[in-house]
Amino acid sequence: MFQKVLIANRGEIALRIHRACQEMGIKTVAVHSTADASAMHVRLADEAVCIGPPASSGSYLNIPAIIAAAEITDADAIHPGYGFLSENARFADIVEEHNLAFIGPTGEHIRIMGDKIAAKETMKRLGVPVVPGSTGGITDDAEAFKVAAEVGYPVIVKAAAGGGGRGMKVANEESELSRALTAARTEARAAFGDDVVYIEKYLATPRHIEVQILGDTHGNVVHMGERDCSLQRRHQKVLEEAPSPAITDKQRAKIGKRCVAAMKQFGYRGAGTVEFLYENGEFYFIEMNTRLQVEHPITEMITGIDLVREQIRVAAGEKLGFSQADIPLRGHAIECRINAEDPMTFAPSPGTVTDYHPPGGLDVRVDSGIYAGYRVPPYYDSLIAKLIVRGDTREDCLMRLRRALDEYVIGGIKTSIPLHQMLVDNPDFGEGEYHIHWLERFLADLNS
Ligand code: ADP
Repeated sequence: MFQKVLIANRGEIALRIHRACQEMGIKTVAVHSTADASAMHVRLADEAVCIGPPASSGSYLNIPAIIAAAEITDADAIHPGYGFLSENARFADIVEEHNLAFIGPTGEHIRIMGDKIAAKETMKRLGVPVVPGSTGGITDDAEAFKVAAEVGYPVIVKAAAGGGGRGMKVANEESELSRALTAARTEARAAFGDDVVYIEKYLATPRHIEVQILGDTHGNVVHMGERDCSLQRRHQKVLEEAPSPAITDKQRAKIGKRCVAAMKQFGYRGAGTVEFLYENGEFYFIEMNTRLQVEHPITEMITGIDLVREQIRVAAGEKLGFSQADIPLRGHAIECRINAEDPMTFAPSPGTVTDYHPPGGLDVRVDSGIYAGYRVPPYYDSLIAKLIVRGDTREDCLMRLRRALDEYVIGGIKTSIPLHQMLVDNPDFGEGEYHIHWLERFLADLNS
């Protein structure tokens, strides 16, 4: 097992990884920008190295500085968390070239799944159902019109290198396709430096359902059930729940089995998430995330399995300690993403947290690095905390979540807690009746 792990991330996820390491008797090295010198992950880590200025391009994305920090501190592995370098195949390769273990899949697997076109082709070949659409990148407009006519309007033009909900444009009819192609290409070039796009059937009211996968280097792969992440704003997740209120035990077992079979054949190691759109009883693969997800705690709450610990164990070459039959799915869990932003306008709200009182009690978990006196820096993602609760039933879970949100005090800055309070009181949400466009419509109604 590793002696020392460098955590190449910040915020709540850096703290989350630090905690798993400590519980395994592993020392930690925090890296941080000058803006994060007093952050909790820096304070709690065994060692800390400043790797650059506030802008993440000079710090959390600075590969030479991170590798140097690992060498100076004699770390033997690097955990990338999510975001930043977590899905950068070149980083994974560089880490291993420096005789450090990368706590994640191989660079090759990250590369394949990072190209959404290659990912779809691979999954199709491995027997996983995909969204109908173009078989490769769309290079000329005539081809785009042909594919769109075949799959039928509306269609969505997506960036092959896409992520974070960017580089996606919908064309409701033929007259909108040229503009959608140009807009998606322009956005993709600006955001990812790559303007390859592809076309998919645009599903009207699907749910976003994703399957958690875990594999080791001995050929074992299991799934840990699904998460429903349909509550989204601008294709970004806001609240997630497990299990999905929309699928049956039989459907879960079937799609889980398909994912496991595909990942076994692929030879996948580590944690991964296979994302689907689900409509009228059918699953359609959209992409795979080759890393830990923000919403992983809801899976941990219902299975009792520490996903970060398992990531570390398999990266060290150990076998999964359990088989599919050993994975219980107990009760229901919901995660609220709490952002430093105005709950109505979504404008960022950085600044000093004056008061802080997180909720507690049975089956209530708060993953956050903030404290009273902490200054939320303006340079990074606005996620400052995740509130995760579990209940024996979905109804119990909602009652507990309502109570926990009422207890939560974060003073001095605006947060999305009031939005979550409105969501848990909404009858449609209470019934589990929602899809990927539901939240946008709910917000539009609120503002009208
Ligand atoms: P990203 O990598 O940018 O997150 P995804 O491919 O995972 O992009 O898609 C993000 C979200 O965009 C989905 O959860 C869904 O809400 C919407 N979306 C993507 N593809 C489609 C599609 N074919 N039809 C309808 N909605 C889609």
